[in-house]
Order: sequence, then structure tokens, then C-alpha cells
Amino acid sequence: MSVPESVMIRLKDAVGAKGFSTDRGELAPHLEEWRGKYHGHSPLLLKPATIAEVSAILRICNDTNTALVTQGGNTGLVGGQIPLHGEVLLSTRRLNKLRAMDEGGMTLTAEAGVTLAEIQQTAADKHFLFPLSLASEGSCTIGGNVATNAGGTHVLRYGMTRALVLGLEVVLADGTVLEMLRALHKDNSGYDLKQIFIGSEGTLGVITAATLRLFAKPDVSVTALVAVPSPDAAVKLLGAMQGHTGGMLSAFELMPRIAMELVTRHIAGTRDPLSAPSPWYVLMEATGGRHANLAASFEDGLAAAIAEGLATDAVVASSDAQAAALWKLRESISESQKREGASIKHDIAVPVAAIPDFLAKATPAVLAVVPGARPVSFGHLGDGNLHFNFNAPKPGDDPGFLALWEEVQQTVHDIVKEFCGSISAEHGIGVMKVAQVPRYKSHEELDAMRALKRAFDPKNILNPGKLIPPVLRL
Ligand SMILES: Cc1cc2nc3c(=O)[nH]c(=O)nc-3n(C[C@H](O)[C@H](O)[C@H](O)COP(=O)(O)OP(=O)(O)OC[C@H]3O[C@@H](n4cnc5c(N)ncnc54)[C@H](O)[C@@H]3O)c2cc1C
Repeated sequence: MSVPESVMIRLKDAVGAKGFSTDRGELAPHLEEWRGKYHGHSPLLLKPATIAEVSAILRICNDTNTALVTQGGNTGLVGGQIPLHGEVLLSTRRLNKLRAMDEGGMTLTAEAGVTLAEIQQTAADKHFLFPLSLASEGSCTIGGNVATNAGGTHVLRYGMTRALVLGLEVVLADGTVLEMLRALHKDNSGYDLKQIFIGSEGTLGVITAATLRLFAKPDVSVTALVAVPSPDAAVKLLGAMQGHTGGMLSAFELMPRIAMELVTRHIAGTRDPLSAPSPWYVLMEATGGRHANLAASFEDGLAAAIAEGLATDAVVASSDAQAAALWKLRESISESQKREGASIKHDIAVPVAAIPDFLAKATPAVLAVVPGARPVSFGHLGDGNLHFNFNAPKPGDDPGFLALWEEVQQTVHDIVKEFCGSISAEHGIGVMKVAQVPRYKSHEELDAMRALKRAFDPKNILNPGKLIPPVLRL
């Protein structure tokens, strides 16, 4: 698609000289995503700094049938933020004000372009916790987190982003501003419209601000890396440790041995803290108040787990620095996979108790398609979400291996369906999975989604081609 010069002029006028760029060098980092999988092109980068500017941009785009892609921190993993067909690109990075903090009500209102790390820090400075935590937190934005309903490592305790948002401000496709920044925990006064925009991946409106829930910052945090013999033992350990800690677990992450090897090989300053290799590990964290003897309950639970054979060894962090070193092992897995070379990735969810059976069925099914591929299945076992990934048989680039992506993906996703799971637990659909969606969602569900899209964006100018597959039947 191309954007007529007359429209370009109107859009530039709407934001003023500081609010746009056509400079190739400035556009370049916005046109390629983190893994280098999607490359886009766009004639114009818009950088609005106010809600009025966002509204003006959308009004012009809607009037002129000009397609637009919204981008926050460009850390999305399914290509949703990349303008693949020459759409105008709207970056939210200049919508970067922290508007308000209500310490009594424990809420924070921030504009869409504020980074997740800044939100976390602002909360922490006042002794609160904003529990959303992702390895991309230094770059991703709260608008992007809301638009993708991001998950991360603390969903087990605090839920997905959806559970952390009390209010939203959204600009609709025709420029209408929906001001819904209500800091209410209870509001049954009609459809909960904000929920429709959470996870909508830029297809229903541009999120410009959010009112977020804050939590009391726990005084005590106990972190351990635990060697476990199998995923089955890990699932049993989860139940046992929830019991021992009175439900205080805040993270429960599964890692295979190969993840430990890749991280310690590729990421400076990491080391395996246990004396012997284990086929699987769990990174476990519990948090609570200083008077509840959390550390003792946690260590009792670990001792019982070792006695029962659910765990074979464990290291409990004795300082914040040690806890950070254990977290670094987990958080560096994606980066280490990237440095190792080609990999095929999935972001799937199945019921927690089904994880061992899923791994037992899906791993050999993939190896039948790609003999020698190296399974690197890790993730948020506590909430049933696995990054069911495979590295190529050998380190380095492997175009032949990557050419099998679709076949491998379908094999995996068909098995996910058998387990009544989801083909996208937390990363979204974007462009990467849009063609797959009809295989895994009913016509009826897809038609209801299309009806919503038509209601909010009748001209299909917002992120066209992403998230919702075109109708293929009469
Ligand atoms: C190393 C790494 C680790 C990650 N770990 C996790 C993880 O644990 N859990 C997880 O869920 N994700 C994870 N991600 C994915 C990514 O960080 C999240 O999806 C994040 O929420 C995207 O935020 P962003 O600001 O970068 O959005 P972008 O990548 O810019 O955009 C993502 C999507 O949201 C839309 N969008 C962005 N901003 C807005 C807005 N203001 N209004 C409307 N639509 C908008 C875009 O159009 C696009 O469809 C990871 C990514 C990386 C690189």
C-alpha cells in the first residue's frame, strides 16, 4: 500500500515537526523485530506526544482509509508491531508521562509509552510492587503490555496483565477518545469495555494510558534453584510447595538441562550452582511478610521434597545477589538460544497437570519431523505455559531447519489442541500465528471476534492482517 502525499502532509501537520520522521536511519530500528524474523517498511513514523495528537492521527487515517500500525517498545515476539505492508507507524514512546500515583488506593496511572521497568521502579520507590515482570522489561512499554496482555514470571500469584489493569484510556479508529481511567475494583455498570482492548494487539484501538493495580511490596523473598528428576516431579513439587508455604509461591519456572548448558556457555557471569547435572530444574520463588516464617516453611518443604524423591538437590539463595544470579539463569534462556543459533519456538499453554504428558507426546512428535533437533522446553510451569522450543541439531544458522518451522508448529499445535490448550499462552497471535488460528478456534468464535473488529474499526485501518484471520468460507 502507498500513502498519498496529501495524507502524509495532513498527518505531519497533526503532530508538528518533532512528532514525525521519514528519516531512513530513524525508521530502521522500528521496522525489524527483536529476532529479525519480520522486516517491514513504512513511509512515515509518527511520534505523538499527546492524546489529542493520537486522536487527530486516527481521524485522518480513518477519513482517508490509511492503515496504521501501533508500536511500543518493539519487543513483541509475533510481529504484530511491524508494518509489513507499508502502513504508517505510530510509536507511543513520547506518550511517556507518569500521570498519577494514589498511594492510599494503591494505583498508578501511566501513559502508554512508559517502560515496564520505569513503572516497576516508580512503584518500588514508594515501597509498592507492580508484579508484571518480563525479560524485556527495560524496553517494553506498558501500552504494549496491555495490548498483548503480557504474562511473565509472576502470573502464578498475580495473574496476567489483564488482572493488573483497573482502567484504560483508548483512542478508537475514528479518533474518539474513550476515557475509562476508573480506579475501581468493582464496576458492574455494563460491559467491561477495557477488557476488550486488553490483548487486542493494536487491532481495536490505540491504548494511550492505563490505571494499574499496585501491591504491597513483600519484605521477604526466598528463591531456590531445585534439581528435579522429571516434569512429573516438578508438577508434584508445585502442589507440595504451595501447601508448605500457604500459597505464597510467586514463581515456579521449569528449565531443562540443555537450557542450563546454553546459558552458562553463552551468557557471561553465569554458572551452574549445583554440583551435579540434573535433567530438569525448577526456579522457585516465594514472597511474603517478615513475620510469617516463610524461609523456614520453604526450606522444610524442600527437605520434604528431597526425602520423597520429588527433588534431588537444591540451592537456596542467601542474598539478593545470589537470587539475582539464579534468576539470570532463567531469564537468559531466550538470549542463549539466540546465540546458539537457529531455533523454532512455541508459546503454548496446557492445564498444569497435563504438562508431563504433553512433553512426553509432543517432544518425540517434533523429533520425528526434525531428527536431531534439540528440545529446549522451559517456562512458567506454575501457570501451565511452556516455551516449547527447539534448537537446530547443530549450533549456528540452519536455513534447512528453519524451513520446517510451519510443519513443526502444526505438529505441536495439533497436540496442544488434543490437550485442550492454547497455541498462544502469552505472546499473542500477531502475524506469526494468524494463519493457524482457524484450525484451533471455532467459526462461531472467530465470527464473534470479527463482529467486534467491525464495530470498533469498520474500515479495518488498525493493524490489518494481524490477529484476526480473513474469512475463508462463504
Ligand atoms: C527477551 C524477551 C522476553 C520476553 N518475555 C515475555 C514474557 O515472559 N511474557 C510475555 O508475555 N511476553 C514476553 N515478551 C514479549 C514482549 O516483551 C511483550 O509482548 C510486551 O508486552 C510487548 O510490549 P512492547 O511495548 O514491546 O510492544 P510492541 O512489541 O511494540 O507491540 C506488541 C503489540 O502490541 C501492539 N501495541 C503496542 N503498543 C500499543 C498501544 N499503546 N496501543 C495499542 N496497541 C499497541 C502492537 O501493535 C503489537 O501488536 C518477551 C520479549 C522479549 C524480547
